[in-house]
Parts: sequence; C-alpha cells; structure tokens
Amino acid sequence: MSSPGSGSKTIETIAVIGAGTMGHGIAQVAAAAGFRVLLNDVDRKSLARGVSAIEGNLAKGIQRGKLTEEDRDRTLQQIHGTTNLETCAAGDLIIEAAPEKLDLKQEVLRRLDNASDHPFIFASNTSSLSITEIASASKRPDAVIGMHFFNPVHIMRLVEIVVGRKTSDETVKTVTSVGRRMRKEPIVVKDVPGFASSRLGVALGLEAMRMFEQGVASVQDIDTAMELGYNHPMGPLKLTDLVGLDVRLNIAEYLHRELGSETFRPPEVLRRMVKEGKLGKKTGEGFYDWNQEKEDARRAQSS
Ligand code: NAD
Repeated sequence: MSSPGSGSKTIETIAVIGAGTMGHGIAQVAAAAGFRVLLNDVDRKSLARGVSAIEGNLAKGIQRGKLTEEDRDRTLQQIHGTTNLETCAAGDLIIEAAPEKLDLKQEVLRRLDNASDHPFIFASNTSSLSITEIASASKRPDAVIGMHFFNPVHIMRLVEIVVGRKTSDETVKTVTSVGRRMRKEPIVVKDVPGFASSRLGVALGLEAMRMFEQGVASVQDIDTAMELGYNHPMGPLKLTDLVGLDVRLNIAEYLHRELGSETFRPPEVLRRMVKEGKLGKKTGEGFYDWNQEKEDARRAQSS
C-alpha cells in the first residue's frame, strides 16, 4: 500500500504498542491514513479506553464538520485491538508508545524480535530516552528509530524522526514517508538528549522563568512578548503550566546532567513551586491561577 519511493520499505500494517495518551492518537492517525492498525496494550481496560478515546475524537471531528461518518467508519474498520504483544510482530512498522522506561521498551523490542522473523521497523515514541540504547536490545538495530509525536496526536502536526547511531537510511526514509502519509510534518534529528523540540522549548521556558525571577517583567508580559512579538501561539510560562512544572523540572534536570550546559540548570522559582505543589493547570495553580479560569468558564457556560 505504501511504497513510498526509492530506498523505502513497503508499509501496510502498523502495530501500535500501548493504547494510552499517545498510542491511541498514533493508532487513529495511522488508520485515517489507510494503514491497517494493530493496537496493543497489556491492560484490557486501557485498550478499551484507547479505542473509546479514538471514537470520541472522531465524533468531535464530525461535529466540527471536519470528518464525515464514512471517514469515521473507514478509520475504525482499520483498527484491530489486541492484548497479545507477539502477534504485533506481524506489523511492517511497530510504533511503541509504552511508558517511558528504558528496560520496558527494550523488553518489548526483544519479545517482538523473538516472536517472528518478519523484518519490521521498530519506532519508539520516547520523549527523552536514547534510541541507540533502546536499539541495543535488538538483533537489527539498523531497523530501530524514534518517531516522536506530540500530544494530542491527531491535532499536532510535528513528528520528530530520531536517528540512532546504527539506524539505516532505508529506515529513516520509510518512517519519514509514513509520517507524511499520516499528514504530519517530519523533521530528522540526531539521537541527542532532548532531540530538537524539547531542547529548544525547555531552554525558552527556563529563560522565561529566570526573567520572571529577576523581575524583568510580569508572567503575562513575558508571555505576551513571545505571543505578539514572535507569533508563538502560547507564551512559554503558560505552556509550562499546561505541560506541568514537575514534568518540566524533570526534563531540565535530565538535560542539565546530560548536556552539562548552564542553560538547563533549573531556576529556583521552578524548584520552589514544584515543592509547594504548584504544578500548573493540573493542580489549579502554576504561573497562572487556573482555578479562576475554570470558574470563569463555568460561569460563562451557565449564563
Ligand atoms: P500512558 O501512560 O498514557 O500510556 C501507556 C500505555 O502503555 C498504558 O495504557 C499502559 O497500560 C500500556 N503499557 C504498559 N506496559 C505495556 C507493555 N509492556 N506492552 C504494551 N502496553 C503497555 O503514556 P503516554 O503518555 O501515552 O506515553 C507513552 C510514551 O510516549 C512515553 O514514552 C512518553 O514519554 C512518550 N510521549 C508522551 C507524550 C505526552 O504528552 N503524554 C508526548 C510525547 C511522547
């Protein structure tokens, strides 16, 4: 079905491992692009939740006039759920979206390798782990790569293709082409900590925090500088609130350790707010007061 030009492999079936936040979205965009999809999770309930999240996304697409009922039916027909990991080795491309633990990802890869001689490509959706290290668990590290999607997958256009030390050109070409078929914009990045997106995004966020700490400008004005001056859809402090301050702190500590650059030393204000439980939108308070925002939205709805 997808014979995407010279030097690429033909991909017909995509197996997605893990049906959580990212996995269900990846399965949805793969199915919408016409691939046959095997959606796998260890947990039956998580698998069912993943499938109903896809149904919910498609229903919203219909409500907004972006999809027809035929589009929905065609997409859902392409998706086959399974709790049996080994059957997924039949996929031509396996996209792994299991939890962010190196040993778990390596174990999944090992089991798939042992299950079949089918020459699949294994793409990890890891947001921080080394692709080269994940690939060291495989008999075919040339067929291991990163495919880093963004949340929510059916809306965010970027996919970061992360090239490990042994990843072959054929593997890069194949997943780049699959990414385009999923209507994503692929960028190709070396396997370095933070890849391209996290490294740049976190650097901007941390500098914004340091500016706030030093009293350069208010939270709102720092965000407005980027929104109106640089056309960013959202300022770096508001984005930090949405991602979660604890998540940002973890990534900053990791990048500081791995890259050894002062750019990534976590600012005091970030450490303090995390200690105080001000983690952003999810706890109601971060750089912004989200409780107030929720209350305003509730009032607006009931009036
Ligand atoms: P999640 O916790 O929402 O989903 C993980 C799913 O994997 C769960 O449903 C779990 O039951 C399942 N699972 C656990 N062990 C498994 C196994 N051995 N085999 C099959 N399924 C298994 O996690 P998520 O947020 O979707 O993250 C998945 C990956 O994507 C992580 O590597 C994460 O770093 C990366 N990522 C996450 C985001 C994000 O915004 N959430 C963005 C980009 C990348």
